[in-house]
Amino acid sequence: MRTKIVAGNWKMNKAASEAAALIEGIKNATADAAGVEVVVCPPFTGLKDAAAACAGSHVKLGAQNVHWEPSGAYTGEISAGMLKDLGVTHVIIGHSERRQYFGETDETVNKRTKAALAAGLVPLVCVGETLGERDAGQMDEVVVRQIKLGLADLDIAKVVIAYEPVWAIGTGRTASPAQAQEAHALIRRTLAEMAGGDVANGVRIQYGGSMKPENAKELMGQPDIDGGLIGGAALTADSFAAIVMAGV
Ligand code: PEP
Repeated sequence: MRTKIVAGNWKMNKAASEAAALIEGIKNATADAAGVEVVVCPPFTGLKDAAAACAGSHVKLGAQNVHWEPSGAYTGEISAGMLKDLGVTHVIIGHSERRQYFGETDETVNKRTKAALAAGLVPLVCVGETLGERDAGQMDEVVVRQIKLGLADLDIAKVVIAYEPVWAIGTGRTASPAQAQEAHALIRRTLAEMAGGDVANGVRIQYGGSMKPENAKELMGQPDIDGGLIGGAALTADSFAAIVMAGV
């Protein structure tokens, strides 16, 4: 049995002064979420206040990116050690917005994931095809490539994957449960090729892309969908908690 994991990607929303209130709301509303791992991922500036708000609770803290070097002349970057030092336990890597706007590649995803693992952080590695790629019948090829290159030469058992079809992110257009399940099963088959069936069966694969309280239960009810990576609906405690509770 894989423990479901629901993570909120706040993106570039919520100032540090707003983080604690949102986390307090999430803590209260998900107090009965036994069996679901709950993670919040504020912007870097909110991590310290968020760590204080999460302390001693069931809500875990994630960041939205990490650099692969431990320290040095990398202006604007944050290392895995710096995140650990603040109490961060999880980190999103390779989100499609980073691939689209900030030059993220499968190679840099691989470097960041290795750095996160070396520091003892749980990487939430995002993969997913664009609308053009899906329409061109390239979903399989794109997702398999992202998995094989992004997770090359590392301990796959310690990674969480988020399948996020780019056409479903922030668009209100959700993959149908059948479409999502098909991609998740493909990812699990690819992991089995890379690391064997036992490892592949233990890896959690989240779905992300306009997941909301109304569709969360059916999506998370699919055999290979082990939780969600939530954008817009993670910005209010009520909607995020409703998604978490759908996974119970
Ligand atoms: C995301 O950005 O990871 C995401 C899934 O966004 P949304 O839920 O808003 O589609």
